[in-house]
Amino acid sequence: MRDFISERALNIQESGIRRFFELANTYDDIISLGVGEPDFPTPWHVRDEAIYAIQKGKTFYTSNAGLMELREAIADEVKLKTQTSYNPKTEIIVTCGGSEAIDLALRSTINPGDEVIYCMPAYVTYVSCIKLADGIPVEIHLKEENQFRLTADQLRAAITPKSKILMLNYPNNPTGAIMEKEDLEAIADLIIEHDLLVITDEIYSELTYLDKPHDSVISLPGMRERTIYMNGFSKAYAMTGWRLGYLCAPDYLTKHMAKVHQATIMAVSTISQFAGIEALRNGQADINQMRESYNQRRRYLVLSLREMGLPCFEPLGAFYVFPNISQFGMTSEEFAMKLIEDQHLAVIPGSVFGDSGEGFVRISYAYSMNQLRVAMARLAEFIEKLRTSETQPLQTLLNK
Ligand code: PLP
Repeated sequence: MRDFISERALNIQESGIRRFFELANTYDDIISLGVGEPDFPTPWHVRDEAIYAIQKGKTFYTSNAGLMELREAIADEVKLKTQTSYNPKTEIIVTCGGSEAIDLALRSTINPGDEVIYCMPAYVTYVSCIKLADGIPVEIHLKEENQFRLTADQLRAAITPKSKILMLNYPNNPTGAIMEKEDLEAIADLIIEHDLLVITDEIYSELTYLDKPHDSVISLPGMRERTIYMNGFSKAYAMTGWRLGYLCAPDYLTKHMAKVHQATIMAVSTISQFAGIEALRNGQADINQMRESYNQRRRYLVLSLREMGLPCFEPLGAFYVFPNISQFGMTSEEFAMKLIEDQHLAVIPGSVFGDSGEGFVRISYAYSMNQLRVAMARLAEFIEKLRTSETQPLQTLLNK
């Protein structure tokens, strides 16, 4: 038989996260801080709306771009949070999670050979989606000393005549970093000067822990017209399984993105869309409550990690901490493997998010305080062993 697999498919990698879950799942008493998924179920009033939709037989396709009522709710939400207006009739597309929004944005804008600048460490699917769209990924290595924010100097150094798109993801997965207004202003001039399109993935925008709201790049002068803004329901409303997200962009872009969306997805689950309307219209109190819990856990983790002597910059967004484990002289993968084997505790090696994640591990705090307390005790014991092992061969010690 011929080799039926396309070069595109061969050219992308499986997520390194999955391998860790497979290993982790071999232990009964494993505590896994690996998943980037809220531990809360979707709020009841949101679930109820989906149930009513089914009961009332609202089971037909919606318009390709999504229910108008949902697009109106999205337009109101984006206007409220970013002071930026989008026309719900022509400038908003409801997508199958943020995941489809990323793919749709890239596939609708890249021509073969266009360079797409993205920041590493990065959410695992970015590189794959850029390659699937025949783009050339160009990475910027973000630095811990800059709190994993993108600086103008770094962006300037990455721009070439082939640069077309800059991907941003703040609040960030995996680092938990945010960019504030002045950080964004510092890169905005360069974006305009080099005529770049921005794809901004703001799926964690509701989860920030300063006493001021998240800053979006679309709010800056000159940015709306050259930005595809994407967001979703998975993280803010604990709705990962509903597969609901959206993108907003000027209509010269959405006009063409709508065709790609129509050809591939047709329309998003009608039931989920009804739930989405309820989430946007009446879900702010739920978000506030979940955010408070995440914040409590975040502070506990950062403090615990620092007490153990693990340098950990303070993440101000999302639900991840990203401590530096380079002092132990092993790769982040070795560290994570040994931690699973020795303590039955799973975290994600920073290297799965790209080279510049090496030397770090990602710990998700979308887990209960009880689980986090046990996890921190196990991690402390592991680190203690590693430190003692500086005078003994590590393997002997961990194999005991
Ligand atoms: N973007 C980022 C940065 C993420 O971390 C995720 C999920 O983990 C997504 C997008 C996709 O989320 P979903 O497709 O569930 O909306």
